[in-house]
Amino acid sequence: MIIVHKYGGSSVATTDKIIEIAKYLGEVKDQGHDVIVVVSAMGKRTDALISLAKEITKDPDKRELDRLMSTGEQTTIALLAIALKSLGYDAISLTGVQAGIKTSGFHTKNVIDSVDNNKINDLLKEGKIVIVAGFQGVNSRGDVTTLGRGGSDTSAVALAAALDARCEIYTDVDGIYSIDPRVYKEAKKLPLISYDEMMELAYLGAGVMEPRAVELGKKYGVEIYVGKSLGEKNGTIICAEEKCMEKKLITGISINENTAMVNIENIPTYAKNVYIVFNSAEKNGVNIDMISQNDVTASHGSMAFTCPKTDETALERTITEIKEALPDIKPEINKDVVKISLVGIGMISNIGIASRVFKILAENSISFHQVSTSEISISLIINGEDKEKVAVLLSKEFEI
Ligand code: ASP
Ligand code: MG
Repeated sequence: MIIVHKYGGSSVATTDKIIEIAKYLGEVKDQGHDVIVVVSAMGKRTDALISLAKEITKDPDKRELDRLMSTGEQTTIALLAIALKSLGYDAISLTGVQAGIKTSGFHTKNVIDSVDNNKINDLLKEGKIVIVAGFQGVNSRGDVTTLGRGGSDTSAVALAAALDARCEIYTDVDGIYSIDPRVYKEAKKLPLISYDEMMELAYLGAGVMEPRAVELGKKYGVEIYVGKSLGEKNGTIICAEEKCMEKKLITGISINENTAMVNIENIPTYAKNVYIVFNSAEKNGVNIDMISQNDVTASHGSMAFTCPKTDETALERTITEIKEALPDIKPEINKDVVKISLVGIGMISNIGIASRVFKILAENSISFHQVSTSEISISLIINGEDKEKVAVLLSKEFEI
């Protein structure tokens, strides 16, 4: 059986940790498995590399930035190979290019198009432990590319798909929890979660797994194990819906604190004005999430939208711009909000979940600003100060 292991930045942050991982990989190899290892850059090295480029210019050339960032992972593969060899194991490190990971798209945001598995297969047949630099590949021009922040997860799943291997992602959390245990102490670790739920939780801000990796897993039917480093086998398996025996209504709740809300009062209700607002947001690079608008039959109305708090500068530019175009409007940014989302495939076939959510809010006099839904989720924008209370109330109500 071929197994792909992936170790994230915090798992390989020091040479001591790399030595520990090498010892463990040796044990896995000794059990008779073919082992491929995908690694991230050590600790916060990718951030450090980007900072170096930014010491030179605010807007570094993206082709060269890809080259620079790709070196983070390349350091780790070499060190891990050195560690394995010093323990007497036959190992070889490969960059993304050498591993046959072909990408397309824009520099710093590439997608994997294909993986040529011939070379890795040959190396495995020779009995080698194959160590591959995550987060990178090569485009049709032969340039080194990277896959966007957090992209090593995607490399691991793509390799597992190409080599028909099992995929195990080791990280600093011991699995996927129904809700952040720092917010709700009784949060449960999920033995299984479906691809769709995981993607929804990842996009909604749960942050454990790179959503594109989960998407790829779904596409190619690769089950993804997520757990803590070194031998602990009680993590979470991300798999097809049919396998998730536990048919709970709500699987998880995510809390996204990186949320800001903009209210715009007194806006003349013409579609053109709404366009002015969102066109300006787009031009300035504000990533819009939820949108709501009140009665469009009145002459003036109000509307609101949310976006990541980290888009703040772009948001301020947008506000200045739309105030110039629409002098009467009253826009206001509220940064003291969070988005709380309930996710569960059970929602597809069960009614009454929204009503239960609003009952809880009503009984506890909690106000909310916006609501949005998908087939398998309900998201609410609430005041930051109500975050813990709402999280606990909803966790209890839906027994997550
Ligand atoms: N080193 C890259 C990053 O920090 C990729 C990864 O860790 O997945 O984003
Ligand atoms: Mg990560």
